[in-house]
Amino acid sequence: MAAENSSGPAQRLDGREVAPGFAAIGISAFTTTREVGSFGLQSGEPVGEVFARWGALRESLGGARLASARQVHGATVVRHVPGWTGWLRADDADGHLSPLPGTAMAVTIADCVPVFIGHRNGATALLHSGWRGTAARIIAEAVDLLAKENAPAVELVVHCGPAICGRCYEVSPDVYAALTGKSVDRPTTVDLRALIADHARALGVREITISERCTRCDNDRFFSHRAGDTGRQLGVMMAEPR
Ligand SMILES: [Zn+2]
Repeated sequence: MAAENSSGPAQRLDGREVAPGFAAIGISAFTTTREVGSFGLQSGEPVGEVFARWGALRESLGGARLASARQVHGATVVRHVPGWTGWLRADDADGHLSPLPGTAMAVTIADCVPVFIGHRNGATALLHSGWRGTAARIIAEAVDLLAKENAPAVELVVHCGPAICGRCYEVSPDVYAALTGKSVDRPTTVDLRALIADHARALGVREITISERCTRCDNDRFFSHRAGDTGRQLGVMMAEPR
């Protein structure tokens, strides 16, 4: 159910799908739901309503600096260091990394995979990984960068959040080949999150979970591009200041 309350910054942010495994290491990680409305900046919704939701999100995070980006289905991960306030919309990037606690990061999602990566030292990374980002191994980029922040792969917690499931996501033979290296002669289904988990394991990650939620199967709770939605939910991550 879409929230139609457009009365401004008093909007509450209730609907969250919490990513497991992070609270115990002082990291807040969740995906927003349809209940709180869309965060998409290109949906045709009145800009004031969308901005009010971003404002409410920041408020709910204690006013923390919030990094986002114009997403281009690439493998670029931007590293954010403290020393600024407000809401950043970085140029073309699909990944964010914060070496220190206190910086919130957000990716917009509607079938692609929000990949949450955290370490107990407070280093975090958050990725938007669709088929292009997955084929380009954006997760390898993030894991490599985290290793330089004293967060080696074997100590990372990884969660693939709500995204289109392996039964719902049918791709062309070209895309299937790009993702799996295998050739098929007709459109074929592929499980992006299973692939990302495989890539993470190959990089040395041990603690990996995958959400049971599918944006398309659970379309009453999440926006889905393939189901025809123009709205977008957010994957959000922040290591609490310590
Ligand atoms: Zn599904």
